[in-house]
Amino acid sequence: MRAKQAEKRYKNLIGGKWLAAHSRKTFENRNPADRDDLLGTFPSSGKADVAAAVAAAKDAFATWRLVPAPRRAEILYRAGELLAQRKEVYAREMTREMGKVLEETCGDVQEAIDTAFYMAGEGRRLFGQTTPSELPNKFAMSVRMPVGVCGMIAPWNFPMAIPSWKLFPALVAGNTCVIKPAEDTPLSTHNLVQTLMDAGLPPGVVNVVHGFGPDAGAPLVEHPDVRAISFTGSSEVGRIVGQVAAAHFKPCSLEMGGKNAMIVMDDANLDLAVEGALWGAFGTTGQRCTATSRILLHKKIARVFTEQLVARTKNLRIGNGLEKGIQMGPQVNQQQIETSARYVKIALAEGAKLLVGGKPLRGAAHAKGFFFAPTIFSEVEPTMRIAQEEVFGPVLSLLQFGTFEQAIEIANGIEYGLSTSIYTRDVNRAYAAVRDLEAGITYVNAPTIGAEVHLPFGGVKQTGNGHREGGTGAIDFYTTWKSVYVDYSDRLQRAQID
Ligand code: ADP
Repeated sequence: MRAKQAEKRYKNLIGGKWLAAHSRKTFENRNPADRDDLLGTFPSSGKADVAAAVAAAKDAFATWRLVPAPRRAEILYRAGELLAQRKEVYAREMTREMGKVLEETCGDVQEAIDTAFYMAGEGRRLFGQTTPSELPNKFAMSVRMPVGVCGMIAPWNFPMAIPSWKLFPALVAGNTCVIKPAEDTPLSTHNLVQTLMDAGLPPGVVNVVHGFGPDAGAPLVEHPDVRAISFTGSSEVGRIVGQVAAAHFKPCSLEMGGKNAMIVMDDANLDLAVEGALWGAFGTTGQRCTATSRILLHKKIARVFTEQLVARTKNLRIGNGLEKGIQMGPQVNQQQIETSARYVKIALAEGAKLLVGGKPLRGAAHAKGFFFAPTIFSEVEPTMRIAQEEVFGPVLSLLQFGTFEQAIEIANGIEYGLSTSIYTRDVNRAYAAVRDLEAGITYVNAPTIGAEVHLPFGGVKQTGNGHREGGTGAIDFYTTWKSVYVDYSDRLQRAQID
């Protein structure tokens, strides 16, 4: 029956028009829980499409930057209202295109709604500074200016939330945008941008170019008229994007991997910690940059915690995220399944002990999708690859420690620095951990996931390059400072001299 459905052909959005790729090539968007389910085809774009999109964004910048910020914000606000009306429809399509369960895709759309309302408020802030001048009869202030055309490259794990983190602050600040969605999840970005257009965004202010990274992403990073680049994805690609942007002296925000640790102290509420571990490790099928991928257990509670966690993990219901009661969906594609399987082999070869899972699920209920069993290893040592490298799948490592200081040392002993967490009832320990964990985010008595849109999001070390999404950090990235001096003395006054 499905095969007879008219195939939906989605297009790029360039200068307000929906266009096929110059090459006419397309790629398919299929459901990772059921490969027979085709959501539609999307343009497989290249350099010429990117050039057209950048030219449209450059044209639109001439007028969009002059629209008062509170008016720009009204469009975001309307988009937030429309997203709220369409939440369920968009969430269902998102579950079909990337697999996470409906409750989570509703959360993903909600994050875009929250970002719309937060950034709409920013339209009446965008605060600069006023400050005294060192000279008499002179006024000094700083104002935020838009950067110009911004290029955005998005990943597939938060296919509406992450594009909204990039687009909405850029738009309220007066920039125009070209976004390249992830090739696994083009529909959610399409839906987001369609909503912006329905909310009254003028043509050319946001342009969408679908396609694969090297074909459609790379030309965006290189284009001389693109003034800033925002990238979320793997460290491997982020390194390339950062190097190309640096060669053009472009501001470039990189948000990449993590190997996030949860510390469970001997005084922790263990039921709460087990609950948090399940959500942190297996929510979004472990495919979050903030996923809990290492749990550091105090020796005294390690056995009890592990037994409880393994028992709960065995009971997780895995399947199509649209079905009621399903707790974990598929991985997004075959490559991710292979990565999970590869790390299982690596962990076993290193001497870690497999407690549960460890392989793809192949039964009748899972035959049509990319399902991998939730997997837990114990007896993991801090230097093992399974404790050091990002898997981006439902594969969790359990480590043990004897003292708080050891826990901090193990948590920090990796090249990433995104999210961390500690479960303890000791307020002194909690604050010491907040101070000493090397990460952009620390949770106390909650797992490593659960960021809110009005706080800075990003990490230290190899997770990022110092920029933040969310909160005011996003506004910092999408604006540039102009210092303004107004001399009303009617004479030449020379700073540092007169
Ligand atoms: P993931 O592992 O999440 O798929 P990637 O880093 O491979 O992460 O992809 C993140 C985004 O970067 C995707 O939109 C992808 O198409 C894009 N991308 C991949 N390679 C390049 C490249 N060479 N230049 C620019 N963008 C790229």
